[in-house]
Amino acid sequence: VIVGHLLRASDNDSYMYLGDAEPPRCASCGVVSDPRWVDPGFQLPPGKRLDASFTYDGRFVVSDAFRAAAKAFGGAEYAKLPSQPGWSLLLAAEIVRFDVEARGTKLSEFCPACSRFTVVAGATPVFLIAPPKPLPDVFLRTDVEFGTRDELRPLVLVGPGLADALIRARLTGLNLTAVDVS
Ligand SMILES: [Zn+2]
Repeated sequence: VIVGHLLRASDNDSYMYLGDAEPPRCASCGVVSDPRWVDPGFQLPPGKRLDASFTYDGRFVVSDAFRAAAKAFGGAEYAKLPSQPGWSLLLAAEIVRFDVEARGTKLSEFCPACSRFTVVAGATPVFLIAPPKPLPDVFLRTDVEFGTRDELRPLVLVGPGLADALIRARLTGLNLTAVDVS
């Protein structure tokens, strides 16, 4: 049964964490510690100003058109990009539990200082623990983050009504994949 959609997006060929400004990092493992942090000088490459895109280090960047399409729905926090007016980071606020055992996700390099695994592989296909069926029409993030060190990011999921609103808006860069749970 399809419960909602996974938000995927094109790469924008840039990094949030490799600019001149230094993000806050865990003193022990060195991984970036605040996903809301934005480099005040961050800009998208001219050919990569899509409505939805990911930096190579896992930041989800969306346009004002994306925000307008999602305006009637909850669950999103935005952090404006000072040097790229019209675009923001999107941070999903609501949490859905990811089933690492069912998926066979590999969690490694645990940091006791920041209480997280800093290398996590195996995000898709999506397995969820007792998700609402369907998912609510808000932006949800998995409780597990995937990737290696600074690339760590949760999966972002949406319910069917929000998925439809995003599809109808014909946003560039955005790719929605149905999440099927039995
Ligand atoms: Zn740490």
